[in-house]
Amino acid sequence: MKYVRFVADRTEHTGTWEDHHVTASGKRWQLSEVRLLAPCSPGKIVCVGRNYADHVAEMGSTLPKEPLLFFKPPSAVLGPEGTIELPKQSARVEFEGELAVVVGRRCRNVPRESAGEVIWGYTLLNDVTARDLQRADGQWARAKGFDTFAPIGPCIASGLDAANLRLRTRRNGRLAQDSDTCNMVFDVPALIEYISAAFTLEEGDVIGTGTPSGVGPLEDGDSIEIDIEEIGVLRNSVVRARSTHQI
Ligand code: MG
Repeated sequence: MKYVRFVADRTEHTGTWEDHHVTASGKRWQLSEVRLLAPCSPGKIVCVGRNYADHVAEMGSTLPKEPLLFFKPPSAVLGPEGTIELPKQSARVEFEGELAVVVGRRCRNVPRESAGEVIWGYTLLNDVTARDLQRADGQWARAKGFDTFAPIGPCIASGLDAANLRLRTRRNGRLAQDSDTCNMVFDVPALIEYISAAFTLEEGDVIGTGTPSGVGPLEDGDSIEIDIEEIGVLRNSVVRARSTHQI
């Protein structure tokens, strides 16, 4: 089943997606008639760094002995087809295509054998990163946390086996990342066990499982797509942010 949130007839709906139509409250729309939103509203987005060996190598880093965790703030969430804004503070913003887990219920201290019981389903995350600030700041909060730096979607696909999914990223139609979730250093059950030993996880929380090699820059006017066939395509455009004062 694919769960979606969308706007149709000027109203927000929660429903399901099949082929070229979406359904909510017994009503049906063509996909082309609606605007998809991020499929959940996470209270927290927990991400895992350095979880594919080839990406660790391209960054010149070392493989962690335990999962390396960081947060992205909920204010960074962006829906499918939304526009990623390149902040003026950074000269180098990069895409990171990732499989993401959506938590299905409140849980704590989940052993890996029980991880499946707390997973609602899977979605895609672009872990957008200001690479220059990541290196300069030491802490990753700012580099990973700008508004629009967490595109999520297009749906939450349930009933998937996440151990072996082909993950691709295309920038302006050109293939940039092409890997498989079987290449993760720490698999999804291991991540849920490790993360839930530290934090209570809540329904709708999102876990980004790390990116494979092939990350690269985002520039004004780009189109960036992350694709796992069993889930769908998360497509976003990119613009250089204009500073606007908002209170
Ligand atoms: Mg990442």
